[in-house]
Amino acid sequence: MKINNKDTFNKELPADKNLENTRRQVYNACFSYVTPKKTAKPQLLHVSEEMLANIGLSKGDSTSKEFLNLFTGNTVLEGTHPYAMCYGGHQFGNWAGQLGDGRAINLFEVVHNDKRWTLQLKGAGETPYSRRADGLAVLRSSIREHLCSEAMHHLGIPTTRSLSLSLTGDQVLRDIMYNGNAAYEKGAVVCRVAPSFIRFGNFEIFAAREDKETLQALADYTIKHFYPEITSEGKQKYLDFLSSVRDNTIKMIVDWQRVGFVHGVMNTDNMSILGLTIDYGPYGWLEDFDYEWTPNTTDAQHRRYRYGNQPYIGMWNLYKLANALYALVEEVEPLQAILEEYEKLYLQAYRTMMKQKLGLNTDENYVSLISELEQTLQITEIDYTIFFRNLSKVLSKDTSEEAFAKIKDAFYVTNTEEALEKWNNWFTNYLTAIQKEDIDDALRAEKMNLVNPKYVLRNYMAQLAIDDADKGNYELIKELHELLKEPYAEQPSQEKWFAKRPDWAKHKVGCSMLSCSS
Ligand code: AMP
Ligand code: MG
Repeated sequence: MKINNKDTFNKELPADKNLENTRRQVYNACFSYVTPKKTAKPQLLHVSEEMLANIGLSKGDSTSKEFLNLFTGNTVLEGTHPYAMCYGGHQFGNWAGQLGDGRAINLFEVVHNDKRWTLQLKGAGETPYSRRADGLAVLRSSIREHLCSEAMHHLGIPTTRSLSLSLTGDQVLRDIMYNGNAAYEKGAVVCRVAPSFIRFGNFEIFAAREDKETLQALADYTIKHFYPEITSEGKQKYLDFLSSVRDNTIKMIVDWQRVGFVHGVMNTDNMSILGLTIDYGPYGWLEDFDYEWTPNTTDAQHRRYRYGNQPYIGMWNLYKLANALYALVEEVEPLQAILEEYEKLYLQAYRTMMKQKLGLNTDENYVSLISELEQTLQITEIDYTIFFRNLSKVLSKDTSEEAFAKIKDAFYVTNTEEALEKWNNWFTNYLTAIQKEDIDDALRAEKMNLVNPKYVLRNYMAQLAIDDADKGNYELIKELHELLKEPYAEQPSQEKWFAKRPDWAKHKVGCSMLSCSS
């Protein structure tokens, strides 16, 4: 197995001088060296072949003992120096101080085909940042992360990736609903991959500690490696950096809204500086369209991270990043000006995206058509994915009844008179809009099907894979992974996954309700 290891993070940035793996506050350092924990009986459950190829490995490599040991943390690749990153964060709106990689250990960086990847184990044991927890991960949350991060990539959404999913053979104690019913579960490790795992929180921690030197070193490092297009100098460099992070964040959130992905824990420590979807915890997929919905039971009361609030939280988090970068700019106004653009830029990108979902191409903004659709979707219980996918079947010569009939399967309930009337109105307007478009029905449908996925990782699908895996059957993990590689394609043999949430899943733990316990 040949790995083109080219570390930069742990070579160019200041390290914690304390080499002991004790839980503590770490100052003036971007990371602490730490060795992954040895596992009892590691077993590889699944590998993403695409990720293997991306880092320059072959299928044959992945069946070797060396691969298993390396990507479960049982051996350390010669010449590499694993480490945990120091970061802080705002959790649910409040500054939480030092957090850091409590159960993630970065192994090394690989350069292949001119691309840089950092490989990181999640659940490989405690680090100086583990606080009161064990540094481990359980199988259910590891399956969710492995499947969803790859699925998001194939949906065309910026995300961290997953190379492999393994059992550790160790037992891990978890109280899933935080109600005193702790039980042992199977431990697992995911090997996550991304160009970098740096988060907003990595900058916030140094600003909070007034450690300008480390803050600047980290910002310079990030710009040099991941925003090389920024060539300005001095203060302007950090302003351009903030603008770029803003733009990437907007792009990511517009994509989330497009497919109905709800992250669930948009704390600033879970915001990637590259605008990648990161830290798959109590995330969920919209089934019935609902701005108020959040899958995260920890957030059930205030719903801070509900579907409809994700765009606002993106901005809120960018304000926290701007606060951290203030030390490098020392002027409020230019930072403020960058963030004041957020709303306008977001709305532009959102409208363009919604027009694509609707198959509308002319210059018109269709502001009222879009907002009427949103209101109509909100008042009825309707499956977001099925609605948009079936909308592409509407023909410009249809009557509004004929058009409505094509999306009827998407409803979870029988419609009230009021809802039916709203739908009728909306379809009348929609038909007028598509009649004005200079594009034939088949081509419009084709284009719509490139942005409206047919297959997403519905909450119950992940749970079925988890239930099977608990019984020792890992086939469904493989099947879903394959299915979600082509989310926009018709896959006739897999039609069963293009279906509404089954009734049993509506209020089941792990399906519509998830806790942070993982
Ligand atoms: P999260 O909400 O999963 O993003 O985690 C927030 C913080 O808690 C991060 O610093 C994690 O590293 C840490 N953390 C979460 N679970 C564990 C665990 N089992 N052991 C150690 N640290 C953890
Ligand atoms: Mg996190």
